[in-house]
Amino acid sequence: MRILATNDDGIDAPGLRALVVALREVGEVVVVAPDHNWSAAGLTKTMHKPLRISKAHLSDGYPAYTTNGAPSDCVALALLGILPQPPDLVVSGINPGANMANDILYSGTVTAAMEGVISNIPSLAVSLDSCEHEADFTYAARFTAGLAGQVHKRDLPPGVLLNINVPHLPPSEIAGVEITRLGRRLYKDALVERRDPRGRTYYWIGGDRPGGVLEEGTDIWALAHKRISITPLQLDMTDQSLIAELKKWEVKA
Ligand code: MN
Repeated sequence: MRILATNDDGIDAPGLRALVVALREVGEVVVVAPDHNWSAAGLTKTMHKPLRISKAHLSDGYPAYTTNGAPSDCVALALLGILPQPPDLVVSGINPGANMANDILYSGTVTAAMEGVISNIPSLAVSLDSCEHEADFTYAARFTAGLAGQVHKRDLPPGVLLNINVPHLPPSEIAGVEITRLGRRLYKDALVERRDPRGRTYYWIGGDRPGGVLEEGTDIWALAHKRISITPLQLDMTDQSLIAELKKWEVKA
């Protein structure tokens, strides 16, 4: 199995290093990762500046490519020709910090996997529910490698990726795996207004860490119950149930 690994925290991130160590047990891994932290970059296509690629190494010496593009650019570059042949799987992560519910729209980790799916490559996004960059990613990485084998064997439907969130707990305390739907985040963003040294106002989107609604069957619920969450995400965001209703509206050209 040929695997393309990327992340949104940058090439030096411990979560990427741990992921690659585990994935190398199940396949041939090529790393193309951003040269700096793009967390919360969303799905980006860089069109107004040149993209550069350099040879680099992960912090354990494993060879990699790094680019000045966003996580989704890294996947696009790899699939458009940096790799000699398309991979069987794209894996993005491991992000320090869960990506659940509405987070998926902001997440560079998840949107890198979306870019893989746009190019019809089965893709996984993996996050650990800990905001420490130096957290222990070993268990989450091993779990992902096992799941990667299953995905390779069973395949995923076109247009679908798996979003995986792993509790940051000792393996003996993890209460199982839950297949989930997206929950609802409760963001606590607050606008911070400050002045720069030249007296001009600038803004910062600050506030507390987000919470979430505890509904059974959701990713947020699974993590709150010490379970690994796997959410199948489809890129088709059409609200099928509203199509018939909208057709009844009197909307005329
Ligand atoms: Mn990140």
